[in-house]
Amino acid sequence: MHQLNADLHCHSTVSDGWLDPADVVRRAQANGVEVLALTDHDELGGLERAAKTAAELGVRFVPGVEISVSFAGETVHIVGLGIDPDESGIVSGLKQVRAGRDARARRIADALAAVGIQGALEGAHRFARNPALVSRAHFARHLVASGVMPDVRTVFDHYLVRGKPGFVEHEWATLEEAVGWIIGAGGVAVIAHPARYRLSAADMNRLLDRFVAAGGEAIEVVSGAHSEDEMRRFATIARQRSLLASRASDFHGEKESPVDLGRCNPLPPDLTPVWSRFI
Ligand code: AMP
Ligand code: MN
Ligand code: MN
Ligand code: MN
Repeated sequence: MHQLNADLHCHSTVSDGWLDPADVVRRAQANGVEVLALTDHDELGGLERAAKTAAELGVRFVPGVEISVSFAGETVHIVGLGIDPDESGIVSGLKQVRAGRDARARRIADALAAVGIQGALEGAHRFARNPALVSRAHFARHLVASGVMPDVRTVFDHYLVRGKPGFVEHEWATLEEAVGWIIGAGGVAVIAHPARYRLSAADMNRLLDRFVAAGGEAIEVVSGAHSEDEMRRFATIARQRSLLASRASDFHGEKESPVDLGRCNPLPPDLTPVWSRFI
């Protein structure tokens, strides 16, 4: 049977994507996406424009967000799907999360200055279309543009991950806050790209336990950030824990993303797709 081409995680210029919200939708439609969620980091500002373009092009649109969470010393991302972007709890929660990003960006710039890279804050801001949402990706793009490193991945490996000189610790939302905001806004909470977290097996189990206890219901089984082995591992977890399964490119832009909009593998057919909630 035909499985819908759903892509339920991607980024626009409202966070650290390269395309503005309308262009994300146009590209998704051109790639055959039938159900699309825009999920900018800690931001809802692109949803209205994306929804409008999706309606014009006949793409089913699911309003989304990707919330930054601190868990067991790691940053974990929780996607919210089908949220009401005007609901006051999520609006004020995300405002708090974004407020912390400014001070963090200054600390990243100070840390880079200490190893001889001056002007990184201004440089990152030149790549950030939304001044309230400076991400490590913007620092990475600036370091590539200024010739410090050949590509974004190499910048992360040398400067922006834990243990490297431009990495700073930061307290994001708690898991319970993020899931609570999503549910309060009428949405479904999804653990984003679970294979990307450096968590012990015990901590991964605790993450799943606490996520479910807080009301979380879904997990990205197919992700642009997952290998086929990782996909199988999280398909098994989705079955064991009766979680809904999501399919997500996590597209940021042509030059940076391994998987384009709508071009992920299909979900294993026995899993219940999270989009069954929206269509
Ligand atoms: P931030 O929310 O500021 O910590 O930035 C996280 C973003 O940086 C992610 O959403 C990705 O867009 C990007 N990112 C994180 N790790 C890497 C990596 N190893 N290579 C390329 N991009 C990365
Ligand atoms: Mn990103
Ligand atoms: Mn993420
Ligand atoms: Mn993402």
